[in-house]
Amino acid sequence: MLTVNDINVYYGPIHAIKGVSFEVRPGEIVALIGANGAGKSTVLKTISGLLRPKTGNIVFDGRDITKLEAHKVVRAGLAHVPEGRRIFLQMTVIENLEMGAFTKSTVSEEDLEDIFTKFPRLKERRKQVAGTLSGGEQQMLAMGRALMSKPKLMMLDEPSMGLAPILVEQVFSIITELNKAGTTILLVEQNAGMALDVAHRAYVLETGNITLSGTGEELAQSDEIRKAYLGG
Ligand code: ATP
Repeated sequence: MLTVNDINVYYGPIHAIKGVSFEVRPGEIVALIGANGAGKSTVLKTISGLLRPKTGNIVFDGRDITKLEAHKVVRAGLAHVPEGRRIFLQMTVIENLEMGAFTKSTVSEEDLEDIFTKFPRLKERRKQVAGTLSGGEQQMLAMGRALMSKPKLMMLDEPSMGLAPILVEQVFSIITELNKAGTTILLVEQNAGMALDVAHRAYVLETGNITLSGTGEELAQSDEIRKAYLGG
């Protein structure tokens, strides 16, 4: 469904992504794990058209999207839930969800109800200003907003960041449910334990290179990964 071919991405003179290749197949949850600054967010931003690779290409659903503008990437069926959520803090829950439907000419009540079924907490808080939601609620809103574009593939950048353990569990169980309901998922995480637990396959990114890959289970059992990312 998504193939990233040998991309190189720079920030001015800084070579942040050095020849990264990987794929996400239909129906999978794929995790990209790695330490701070490894380049995980840069990979997602490049896929979603916010950054351009200097070389290499990205194919989504049979179409070369390497040079596509970010809003057209969303229209093509690829939604990005960015690090830090980036919801519209002054707008209400429902207004944030409506913004997520920008690819459609009208916001359908059915789509909203569908999101509220997945996230009952958002329904209770539909009129609340998003800036006053808790961290977990904001993460759910960011995911709900992305789902309003009915993506085939959803990219999540650090969904567990800043959340209490019980909320991390909840967010990951929602990710698994969304996947079971048909959304393919590319997940970036520093919380390697949780990510490997839900992922069918995973890649390890270290200073701009993919150094390891395998099934979630294989990587969770690898000595190297246990030492570096799972606290021994
Ligand atoms: P984290 O988990 O801490 O967010 P990450 O793996 O997502 O880390 P990136 O944010 O992709 O890492 O950063 C990769 C590298 O690129 C880092 O060395 C970072 O300092 C650098 N970088 C990121 N954004 C910029 C920028 N706008 N300008 C210059 N360098 C940047």
